[in-house]
Amino acid sequence: MSTVTRFAPSPTGELHIGGVRTALFNYAYAKKKNGKFLIRIEDTDLERSTKEYENNILQSLNSIGLIPDQDPINQSKRSELYLAAAKKLYEDGHAYYCNCSKERLDELRSSLQEQGKKPQYDSKCRELNLSKSNDTVLRLKTPLEGQTIVKDYVRGEIVFENSELDDLIILRSDGTPTYHLCNVVDDFEQGVTTVIRGEDHISNTPRQIHIQKALGYPELEYAHLPLVLGNDKKRLSKRHAATGLEEYQSKGYLNSAILNCLARLGWSKGDKEVFYLDDLIKDFELTEIQRAGAIFDQSKLDYLNSQHLANLSIDEFKIAITPFTKKLDIDIDTHQHLELLINSMRSSAHTLSGIATNLVPYFKDIDSYDQKALEKFVAPAPTILSYIHDALNKIENWNEEVLDNEMNIIKEELNLKVPQINQPVRIALTGSTNSPSLGTTMYLFGREETLIRIKALIESL
Ligand code: GLU
Repeated sequence: MSTVTRFAPSPTGELHIGGVRTALFNYAYAKKKNGKFLIRIEDTDLERSTKEYENNILQSLNSIGLIPDQDPINQSKRSELYLAAAKKLYEDGHAYYCNCSKERLDELRSSLQEQGKKPQYDSKCRELNLSKSNDTVLRLKTPLEGQTIVKDYVRGEIVFENSELDDLIILRSDGTPTYHLCNVVDDFEQGVTTVIRGEDHISNTPRQIHIQKALGYPELEYAHLPLVLGNDKKRLSKRHAATGLEEYQSKGYLNSAILNCLARLGWSKGDKEVFYLDDLIKDFELTEIQRAGAIFDQSKLDYLNSQHLANLSIDEFKIAITPFTKKLDIDIDTHQHLELLINSMRSSAHTLSGIATNLVPYFKDIDSYDQKALEKFVAPAPTILSYIHDALNKIENWNEEVLDNEMNIIKEELNLKVPQINQPVRIALTGSTNSPSLGTTMYLFGREETLIRIKALIESL
């Protein structure tokens, strides 16, 4: 049977990067098996689900390339299927109506808790043959004895005692189906073979297996993924780092680097750190997913982004950075040495937005200088700049080699160290000390602009 996986988010928040990791593993496994990857929006919780979150999730998955093989479905539009399944469970003797009041259930819970027992329903109505009324819920007749074994690719066999699982409500008193019933029916109706989801769903699994068995559905494969944690080993939240996919995309992390980083959260192939979606699909094995919580480390993402940025061709890089330079009102195509500029600046920051910001001085006048840099490199000997200006003013053949050579001569003449003459020029040209080699930087600005900027800094002192 061909593999079908699904990502089944509840649209109660923006797509979390932990969710992207779950979607990615579902996608990679389906593709590896030449199967299908599906998306199901679990929006039965009408109070907490919103269309906005749903759109954000779908748009985010789309933007990062995790595109499903069929149109996503919404549970909110499939009530009939769930009701039909509930009816079948009832008619086949696998479910019963229960009219226990909230008060009785509360009392039962407190009394069990007082005795130090696990609070669970005592199946009072199980053999009463009650019929449906306005205050009955429909409960599943959960097996009273025996064990349910979840065979999990990540955690091996997880054994649950059936006696520890009470008779689950599958229809509420208002007739609406509950989460577990919808989840199980949809996995069956969508032809899902493999459930890959967060390990917070492990305890749901035996309950869902009971529903599946009662409905005569085939068994599913399971892989419960380790939680995505922050540096302090607590579940990753906004306290640790940005958690929304869009935030990373808008800072200029490449999709390929984000996916690379997320794939490493729980999975690895030897020492290979930098890889692409195709590599993941080729090498991915559910059995190689680790059990331990996976720590999301922003500096790893920075590193991977730099590596992925370095692997882009000039044209790809130009396309990738353009939205970021446009935001800063820069048209990179106007630069006379664009290729050299890109090659000199592409590793100047970890993100496209950082690199775009570093490009600003190459397109716009300096509106403020880095004060600390001024104090350190210019203030101690302001006349050096005039000396350099006059020396550079004599150069006709404006190229990197000649310029580097000239700066060397000035250094010797004034008997100074490299930073004492290079940094003031860098500051004059870019506003800060962050720039490529000085010869290249001056070449990138051109003769006229270099001299104008040095003069401007001298005058501003
Ligand atoms: N809707 C669930 C969630 O967002 C996922 C359920 C599942 O994958 O089975 O956590």
